[in-house]
Amino acid sequence: MHKKDMAKDWQFTQTDKTKWIETEASRIGVTPFDVEKAFSSEFDGKKDLFSPLEIPDVMKVTYKYTYGGQSAFFRALRDYGKLLGAKCEACDFTYCPPRKNCSRCYGETQWVELPGTGKIASYTTIYKGTSLITGKTPCICAYVSLDETDFVVLTNVEMDDPSKAKVGMRVKAVFKPERTGRVSDFYFTAMSEGA
Ligand SMILES: [Zn+2]
Repeated sequence: MHKKDMAKDWQFTQTDKTKWIETEASRIGVTPFDVEKAFSSEFDGKKDLFSPLEIPDVMKVTYKYTYGGQSAFFRALRDYGKLLGAKCEACDFTYCPPRKNCSRCYGETQWVELPGTGKIASYTTIYKGTSLITGKTPCICAYVSLDETDFVVLTNVEMDDPSKAKVGMRVKAVFKPERTGRVSDFYFTAMSEGA
């Protein structure tokens, strides 16, 4: 029998599109919208028996990466609850977030321990955000000018009353009890008046 005649007399049953989309979306953990978008042509009409049939699937990739020249910063953070800066002796300029090489002279920087205190250089109040901060708004996202550095870090400042945030306010780093070696291991909180 010739290929083109093979399914000629067979009874065709159209797959239930909605049900298929919902089942596949749930199986691989994506939205039904995405499945429909990717597979809409499969439901355009009867397909040739021999045309390629595509089905959705999921591929999980795990990998490791290195912090390279920034490693000491993250080890100090995770293993010791310390903040490190990177100082260029030639320029007398200290970076935090650290840089392996000075942005001004390209010379190699040296690690220095920072006190973890500073002041708000600029901030914004967040009222609405993603599910990550649901229930935590309003909250303060600020550039903090760290003591003993010439730089600012972008960070969260946790305050009982975010309306009291102001430029120049003294803040200090708080290290979470369980740290994983990520920037989210610490945040800032307001220091008491006069501190
Ligand atoms: Zn330099």
